[in-house]
Amino acid sequence: MKPSILNYTREELSRFLEEQQQPAYRLQQILQGLYQNQWPQFEQFSTLPKEFRQLLDDNFVLRSFTLTDTHISEIDKTTKFLWELPDGLRIESVIIYEGKRVTYCISSQVGCPLDCKFCATGKMGILRNLTAGEIIEQVLQMNSRSEAPLTNIVFMGMGEPLLNLDEVLPAAHKFIAADGFGLGKNRITISTAGIIPGIKQLADQAEPFKLALSLNAVSQESREKIMPVTRKYPLSDLLDSVREYTAKTKKTVTFEYVLMDGLNSSEADARALVRLAHPFKAKINIIPCNTDDPLYHPPSEQDIQKFEWIVNGKRTITRRRRKGWEIQAACGQLYAENLTKTARAAKPHNNKPIMDRKKP
Ligand code: SAH
Repeated sequence: MKPSILNYTREELSRFLEEQQQPAYRLQQILQGLYQNQWPQFEQFSTLPKEFRQLLDDNFVLRSFTLTDTHISEIDKTTKFLWELPDGLRIESVIIYEGKRVTYCISSQVGCPLDCKFCATGKMGILRNLTAGEIIEQVLQMNSRSEAPLTNIVFMGMGEPLLNLDEVLPAAHKFIAADGFGLGKNRITISTAGIIPGIKQLADQAEPFKLALSLNAVSQESREKIMPVTRKYPLSDLLDSVREYTAKTKKTVTFEYVLMDGLNSSEADARALVRLAHPFKAKINIIPCNTDDPLYHPPSEQDIQKFEWIVNGKRTITRRRRKGWEIQAACGQLYAENLTKTARAAKPHNNKPIMDRKKP
């Protein structure tokens, strides 16, 4: 199989040009075609001679995904895409429209090893890491389908980005590079369930990206129940690493908090969350749990509002504004739905590993 050109760094492309005895200025022309014009086929690279377009086509692929399913929310047009990768595995990406802000939520792994109890992706286990090219291709694919130009990218789709930093960082750099997508570095947010060495690595970047921590509980004990990763990386050490990140980078951190009835949504929890976040330059994002798992469900609308009232200093977030994030939070559900559909349609002997994983 030909490699995806999206996996190639500038240096690697330069080396390819040298090997092919092509002039060095072709590099800029290729990058422009890939990331500024975003042409989906080499034959469209009109700045390049025909024979060279053919040479690229002989050596690389430019788009490798097949769109398998799409869900568009009637409320706010939040759009979920399910892509099939060349090896048959599937991932989700989401577009969230909120006024002028258009956020792309992208995946970093196929599945996830962390097994957070309320998370649909956690049920898949980890199948593999995505390559930088596959991370980038999600953005290119959505660009050709989005109703408005993207403004923000969040690594809040499937997977734990801090367990795949070797691919996530080159992709994130491509998003901000002047000869890449040219987005501001404050427009890229990397979200983690709490991988301390990864947070340290992010803090040490020359051009750090924004960090979001999926906090979801205010004590070690309650967090362990829903996020097993807390046993390896205890909450107090985790918060120390976030403190180090904000001190080094001078950036605001976002604490994400998935509200689950009876688990983390009491008024005492809300007050503890305020105390915990107080010393940080932090933003708190409250997302009512969205899952079809009967063990984890959102509190009543009244309880959600009470929680928000305490946390947000007597302001509530309108339901409409929250909705896109609620829908996105169920990342992994479109995947699961399709597995059930495929499994139903499949003959008994057609038992690829991907079909073994059923909804709980
Ligand atoms: N592994 C990373 C990134 C992926 S999860 C992380 O944990 O941050 C992205 C966000 O979706 C996290 O904040 C997570 O807490 C949230 N999420 C997962 N399942 C959810 C659900 N069922 N309802 C609401 N939010 C959910």
